[in-house]
Amino acid sequence: MGKLHLFDMDGTLLYGSAAAIEISRQLGLEREIDELERGFAAGELTPPQFAQLACDLWAAELTEPQVAAAFESAPWLAGIQEVWADIRARGERCAVISLSPSFFVERLLAWGADAAHGSRWPAVPIRERVEPAGILSSAAKVRIADELCARYGLTRADCVAYGDSMSDTDLFAAVPASVAVNADHHVSDLASYAYAGRDLREAYELVRTGP
Ligand SMILES: [Mg+2]
Repeated sequence: MGKLHLFDMDGTLLYGSAAAIEISRQLGLEREIDELERGFAAGELTPPQFAQLACDLWAAELTEPQVAAAFESAPWLAGIQEVWADIRARGERCAVISLSPSFFVERLLAWGADAAHGSRWPAVPIRERVEPAGILSSAAKVRIADELCARYGLTRADCVAYGDSMSDTDLFAAVPASVAVNADHHVSDLASYAYAGRDLREAYELVRTGP
């Protein structure tokens, strides 16, 4: 019986951080992005609005090597590649679904994810406007999970979701097993399991063995 493990990225695989924060750090724009992140978390900015303001902030300054450096130096949980290797060795699947830019999220394919889906932000260097239809939402995560299930011949009943925040609540409600990773109580209360720490192997162990 197959399983599909669905991972959020920001705040889940990335400890206390997000792609936009790590990219902004490369450009010395931490204070500016903090303000946008706060607005987004408070629900004052929609995902497309957040994306456009972040793109305005980075503008044409952002280069591909800076995105690579942001990815390399980001505070990833320990053990991500080991967990994904174990999942695949069992004949199961693992995928990342994130609202963050696909040009960052898709780098996780090299770490062994079967699939990595992010929002379609303008390509780097950024010269175009954000296309709102390309920006994912909490509900879009469920749609992508359904598409992945169809691709792998699985159903929602086979899914395990790992996430940390409000953008994961739709997915947590749609699947039978979920792990709140470094999450606040809004998300933890919805989840089958809760994990706080910096090692994905420990969160994954909860799913394998139960609480
Ligand atoms: Mg998150």
